[in-house]
Amino acid sequence: MSGNVLVAGGAGYIGAHACKALARAGYTPVTVDNLTTGWAPAVRFGPLEVADLMDRARLDEVFARWRPVAVMHFASLSQVGEAERDPGRYWRENINASLTLIEAMIAAGCANLIFSSTCATYGDQDGVMLDEDTAQRPANAYGASKRAIEEMIGHFAASAGLRPVIFRYFNVAGADPEGETAEFHDPETHLILLLLDVAAGRRPSLTLFGTDYPTPDGTCIRDYLHVSDLVEAHLLGLERLLAGEVSRVFCLGSGRGFSVREVIEAARAVTGHAIPVAVGPRRPGDAARLVCGSHRAGRELGWQPARSSLAAMIEDGWRAHRDLLPRFWHRNDGKESE
Ligand code: UDP
Repeated sequence: MSGNVLVAGGAGYIGAHACKALARAGYTPVTVDNLTTGWAPAVRFGPLEVADLMDRARLDEVFARWRPVAVMHFASLSQVGEAERDPGRYWRENINASLTLIEAMIAAGCANLIFSSTCATYGDQDGVMLDEDTAQRPANAYGASKRAIEEMIGHFAASAGLRPVIFRYFNVAGADPEGETAEFHDPETHLILLLLDVAAGRRPSLTLFGTDYPTPDGTCIRDYLHVSDLVEAHLLGLERLLAGEVSRVFCLGSGRGFSVREVIEAARAVTGHAIPVAVGPRRPGDAARLVCGSHRAGRELGWQPARSSLAAMIEDGWRAHRDLLPRFWHRNDGKESE
């Protein structure tokens, strides 16, 4: 395994974990990130090109310099709540960034693309297990922008020789088990990270968004997958592309759903903290239940989630949150984060 892999969004949570996995497998991960939501200190496993994906001239330079064998595209605005408040930004930036990146790839003769899509492209589906053939009916602007990019990729595959692997992620959680990189967002919106913030004394309580969903305990059900398992699938997808096999869509989830209340209990057990919870209204755009019912990645890529128990994800996240973030995480301007 060798060659440069361009990692769009490599300074973000999943991108940084992917860079570590790529470097370990013998590739050179070249991060392209504008550092608006990514963190320069997270780029530890290969070079960093600070560039905006909507800047075609900069992308052309980056492709000419590194001549990547493939692109992994993690860069995206990805918060459901924010997407509901400002849908225009999600349509404009997610679509334009992906379009510019794909056109730069085609111009540079780099055809292999691994694209991060999402189970948010499915929307509310009345309790069905979701797989690659489930109709996509996104319930929010984030999911809608990702579905549109999937469609765009299909057109470039059909007419311009693009060779994509599309992964539809369910909820990604946890951190590098070796403690070298972690999950961190500013502002934080993700359930498990907010629970860890409360346990660490950084927030007084968690607001639970809705207890009147049509689920057994009334709270939303999600399928959580360890970030290490997720990036492992990306390496297998990359091998598939480099071996010349056909393009595919794969759902990536553990196949088990946990309610928000179950996640809260697991976080209490792992951290030993009472974690106070206040019940609030539903968050607009949230689907009641999103659980992966696909085994395609197992069958075709030989992928199996190995570390995706709720306890392991929260333990790895908690260790990184407690040990790594306060010591090593610096803001992009060089000042230490709180
Ligand atoms: N959630 C919550 N309180 C919070 C943040 C999230 O109750 O402060 C719920 C949210 O409504 C959803 C689940 O936790 O049902 C997971 O949300 P997250 O934002 O982590 O991921 P998403 O499912 O939106 O990708």
